[in-house]
Amino acid sequence: MRIDVLGVGFDNVTMAEAVERGTALLHTEGTHYVVTPNPEIVEVCRENPEARRAVNGADLVLPDGIGVVKGAAMLGTPLKEKTPGIEFAAHLMERMAGEGLSLYLLGAKPGVAEQAAENLTRQYPGLVIAGARDGYFKEDGPVVEAIRQSGADAVFVCLGAPKQELWMAKNGPATGAHLLCGLGGSLDVFAGTVERAPKFWCDHGLEWFYRLCREPRRIGRMMKLPLFLVHVKREKRKK
Ligand code: UDP
Repeated sequence: MRIDVLGVGFDNVTMAEAVERGTALLHTEGTHYVVTPNPEIVEVCRENPEARRAVNGADLVLPDGIGVVKGAAMLGTPLKEKTPGIEFAAHLMERMAGEGLSLYLLGAKPGVAEQAAENLTRQYPGLVIAGARDGYFKEDGPVVEAIRQSGADAVFVCLGAPKQELWMAKNGPATGAHLLCGLGGSLDVFAGTVERAPKFWCDHGLEWFYRLCREPRRIGRMMKLPLFLVHVKREKRKK
């Protein structure tokens, strides 16, 4: 059973369990997708029913950061731990490399996915990069077809939220891949164009603050975080 945080159902798994589940989905017939919402996406889902359906329709819903974990605890239904999308992706690639599986990278500005592909090929020997393309396209059709033709086992869909969740819900099965993962800005990190917060900040639940200092233009989006806490407190009172 999933743990409800303001209308989004999260899977209560450790990172190790999440990777097991993700790997199993890679080998399960049909197409599956994974989402990794943070408080900002939960807030988007409160206002946008279509986004909420796409997020809740995923086969695996992982709490990307400390905010959702804190929210769940405040509501009296704690989640085991945070399972950041980028770390989940790294573990999954390790598994895929071991099995010689193939991955398509979709998203970010032109050139970024290709650079990420180059770096990941070096970092995970055995991992096959089936293709890469930027996330600024007008029509889904040719992109879906390119992924299908590539025969990729998995696709990292990095178009930002809720675009990537809607895209996976709509186009996932037509790509022919077994697993799609919505991973926000991860390709920028894999390509080395954006740095992830150092371990200290991540371990202390301050990754969001580090990102805010590095990219002050995120302030508008991050105002959703206090709003999330207000909504969690209200929900708690109702309970
Ligand atoms: N992006 C994209 N197509 C779009 C809009 C955004 O490929 O139409 C990419 C953008 O270049 C960035 C990623 O989606 O690489 C979103 O990154 P962001 O930092 O917003 O995601 P977060 O990790 O915060 O969810």
